[in-house]
Amino acid sequence: TPGGSSRSREDKIVVTVRLRPLNKKEQLAKDQVAWECVDDHTIVSKPQAQERSHHQSSFTFDKVFGPESVTEDVYEDGVKNVALSALMGINATIFAYGQTSSGKTFTMRGVTEKAVNDIYNHIINKGTVVEKLVEETANNDQHLRHLISICEAQRQVGETALNDTSSRSHQIIRLTIQSTHRENSDCVRSYMASLNFVDLAGSERASQSQADGTRLREGCHINLSLMTLTTVIRKLSVGKRSGHIPYRDSKLTRILQHSLGGNARTAIICTLSPASTHAEQSRNTLYFANRAK
Ligand code: ADP
Ligand code: MG
Repeated sequence: TPGGSSRSREDKIVVTVRLRPLNKKEQLAKDQVAWECVDDHTIVSKPQAQERSHHQSSFTFDKVFGPESVTEDVYEDGVKNVALSALMGINATIFAYGQTSSGKTFTMRGVTEKAVNDIYNHIINKGTVVEKLVEETANNDQHLRHLISICEAQRQVGETALNDTSSRSHQIIRLTIQSTHRENSDCVRSYMASLNFVDLAGSERASQSQADGTRLREGCHINLSLMTLTTVIRKLSVGKRSGHIPYRDSKLTRILQHSLGGNARTAIICTLSPASTHAEQSRNTLYFANRAK
């Protein structure tokens, strides 16, 4: 609005979908490609996957990235504006959501790397200081990358020990950015914001089929934080009239509470396997993405 501070909801939650290529294993197994990006905004299920069902077959989003896309595209069109808003004191969160093996970590690593580069480019120009949450001050992008690699290494240790930690756990990289903008010789503005990069647990952990009844007996398969997050995002996307937002129902949403909703900005990258054997999980991901936009 002219001169006003209220933004439209579209500015606050950006929802994109990235369809990865078939991997070697899927190619060897002669798995079929079940999805196609037909333009910059639309993804459709291919006929052979659709024949047996009456499911929705076409979905539109702020942007869809096909198997030939590179992470640079995903960053430029789906993340950059959200990430850089943290330099102006606006909390921001970038999520990767999708089933295990759909490309969350692959995409998130690239996107985090590009955001860190971009942020430090702005800092060289504008004189800003970046701090890591754990009392570590990163003086340059190399140092920050080092801190991120420590974070990833810790998670990988868990993965070897427990085999599928990354499908069950969330990884959050939070940068606390304090920025000072000199507007003229006697006017200096200071901002503080959190920028969160979140590589979520595999979305199969939030799936409806697992949620019925089995939840009580086999709670370990369900990820409460992931389920709560999907509720929070769905309510936020509905807007003001959505009533109570259950941030406090899980650890993840408590941690991210001040970076979701309100004035905060959110980018959700939903990653999809193209394989027809994964079509049902991919459809669940697209339904989630649809509700989030
Ligand atoms: P997730 O974190 O969702 O479980 P990963 O990011 O580990 O999935 O991806 C699974 C595999 O697929 C990895 O070997 C990864 O390198 C590969 N991969 C994922 N996305 C892409 C892509 N867009 N292009 C090429 N390879 C990809
Ligand atoms: Mg992963």
